Amino acid sequence: MTDLRPAILSLSASDLEAWLVANHAPAYRRRQIWGWLARGAASFEAMNDIPKALRSDLGRDFRSTSLTTVVNTEADHALTSKTLYELDGGHSVEAVVMRYADRSTLCISSQAGCPIGCPFCATGKFPFGRNLKAHEIVEQATDAVRLLATEGRRLSHVVFMGMGEPMANYQSVVESVRRITDPDLLGISPRRIVVSTSGLIPRIEQLAAEKLPVTLAISLHAARNELRDVLVPINRKYPVDLLIKAAQGYADATGRRVSYEWVLLAGVNDTERDAKELGRLLRRRLAHVNLIPFNPVEDTPYRAPDRASIRRFKEWVEGQGLNVTVRDTRGREADAACGQLHERVMRERSAAPKVAARVPSVIGS
Ligand code: SF4
Repeated sequence: MTDLRPAILSLSASDLEAWLVANHAPAYRRRQIWGWLARGAASFEAMNDIPKALRSDLGRDFRSTSLTTVVNTEADHALTSKTLYELDGGHSVEAVVMRYADRSTLCISSQAGCPIGCPFCATGKFPFGRNLKAHEIVEQATDAVRLLATEGRRLSHVVFMGMGEPMANYQSVVESVRRITDPDLLGISPRRIVVSTSGLIPRIEQLAAEKLPVTLAISLHAARNELRDVLVPINRKYPVDLLIKAAQGYADATGRRVSYEWVLLAGVNDTERDAKELGRLLRRRLAHVNLIPFNPVEDTPYRAPDRASIRRFKEWVEGQGLNVTVRDTRGREADAACGQLHERVMRERSAAPKVAARVPSVIGS
């Protein structure tokens, strides 16, 4: 039966305080409740410095999260874990936690599916579901906090690079960034948050005016319009030279270096010509290029380049005077490319509706 209780994080600070007062509790309990959620509390029962009667009232009126875990997968000797969550109404999204020596990063989803439809992307292959609400985005972060807390780790970085185009769900994404950075809730510095976009220029300009100094990442993947029109179809509306101008405007307004993401597709965008075009576009700009070797997605014509081609392309780009790194290929066994776990589970579900029964050890609540 559908649980109609709202999720606690769907309430604003003032709405939760009003509920507390109406339930004969002081408004300051709101900070305590958020503090518990920020430390990864999985239930109201666990909030043991809150009076029992209030905990029970909270449980009567709210859920501690709206997300239901469908499946978890791990890779890289448990340094990478991916969770597929079911949302209210039945759509599902993925979040990935990546553990490093000096930080723990969460890759978060902002939409169920994605309307952009990049042909190399597992998410883009599915019909678009819906925008996530701000609290559904934040709940991915509080669940990652909970998971990491069991390992003695803290969530330090959040990247909006999971399913969806964050700028196409602008209000919820900005609201969720405000919650994630709120010292009363997760208190993560905006400088440790990356918001990516395939290139919605009006929203980039709007974000520059928000006074939220998050890092902007542009999913570039091609430097000439003919190729980018194919790889990132939104380019037909917002061509690449105007996109770079808007991104530069963001860098000027925030002082933050823009990150340009480039998924390397063998024989498609890994040639010397591509490197030179990229150089022409970004030289002398506050920019960093992040090369991402393609993580193969079934039913696409694209292949990952070999190591020698990756190295060669990196050298060509460096030769253009640009800062460039190659992202490690975390989580190949965890269906790590955006949308792959969702795709696999959906496929298994249609082949055998009882997928849950076949993987009982990884099914959440
Ligand atoms: S690569 Fe990003 S923008 Fe393109 S379809 Fe996938 S999720 Fe959407």
